[in-house]
Amino acid sequence: MAGRTYIDDNFGTYEIESEEDIEWYHQVQEESVWKICKACTRKVKLRPDYGICNFCAEILERGGDPYG
Ligand SMILES: [Zn+2]
Repeated sequence: MAGRTYIDDNFGTYEIESEEDIEWYHQVQEESVWKICKACTRKVKLRPDYGICNFCAEILERGGDPYG
C-alpha cells in the first residue's frame, strides 16, 4: 500500500502509510485551531499548545531566526 502525503502546520509535510497514523492525523486536525504564528504572523492551523508553525520551527531548528 502506497503512502499518502499529508500536510499540516504542526508538523509540515509527511507520508502516512498506516490506518492508525491516518486516524492520528485527523485527530491532530480536529484539535488544531486557527492562530497567528508568533514568528511569521501567518494564519495557521495549530494545536492549542503550539505557538509557531512548522515552517518557523524548522528555521529555529537550523539555528535561524524566524522572528526577523
Ligand atoms: Zn510561522
